Amino acid sequence: MKIKDKVLIVEDEQSISNFISMILTTNGYDTIVVRSGEEALTMISSHCPDLILLDLGLPDMDGMEVLRSVRKWSNLPVVVVSARHHEQDKVDALDCGADDYLVKPFGTSELLARIRAAIRHTRTTLPSGQIAQSGKFISGDLTIDYDKHQVLIGGENAKLTVNEYKIVALLGKYAGKVMTYDFIIRELWGPKARTDNQILRVNMANIRRKIEENPGQPQYIFTEVGVGYRMREGD
Ligand code: CA
Repeated sequence: MKIKDKVLIVEDEQSISNFISMILTTNGYDTIVVRSGEEALTMISSHCPDLILLDLGLPDMDGMEVLRSVRKWSNLPVVVVSARHHEQDKVDALDCGADDYLVKPFGTSELLARIRAAIRHTRTTLPSGQIAQSGKFISGDLTIDYDKHQVLIGGENAKLTVNEYKIVALLGKYAGKVMTYDFIIRELWGPKARTDNQILRVNMANIRRKIEENPGQPQYIFTEVGVGYRMREGD
């Protein structure tokens, strides 16, 4: 029998934690529910969950403090689930090491997809800064061939430039997760890069012309307005 993944739900509103817990239990996860930041930190060290769903508005501390504290010693996947919907809140959480950010209210399938992506990514991750990986990423008609440094659409070479390829390769490596503009720029052009988002946008427009059937309604790379980009999950 498959060992169930254990999800720690950090949420002070009981109706929400009950709802999330029910969804996860019926979809094959074990859950633990805590209502404060202090309890969360105790549980994390004593119960080693496989993933944390973290509310930001907690009674005793801000969820961001929990996130910072966890990131000092662990790469455990953390998905922030919050009513705070401003772009800056998302950017701050992602830059602080959250794996993903879900705004309340959210759909069941979206919650499950983000959890799957965060857990899978943590299990397959390479040391940071390493875009090069071998093998293939496949999602629908899109294939990233990491050995040949090519992106194929329906088996045809999409003829991306080197920079375009690097962007797609990076997003493919983190498929299903939103990557902030800053993260992408740092990974591709180094920590001191003074590049602004404009160059990314231009590259993305060109990438979409080459890989999307309808660049205005992308199927592979989605924009999280003001935050970054997300590659569709692999097959
Ligand atoms: Ca709350």
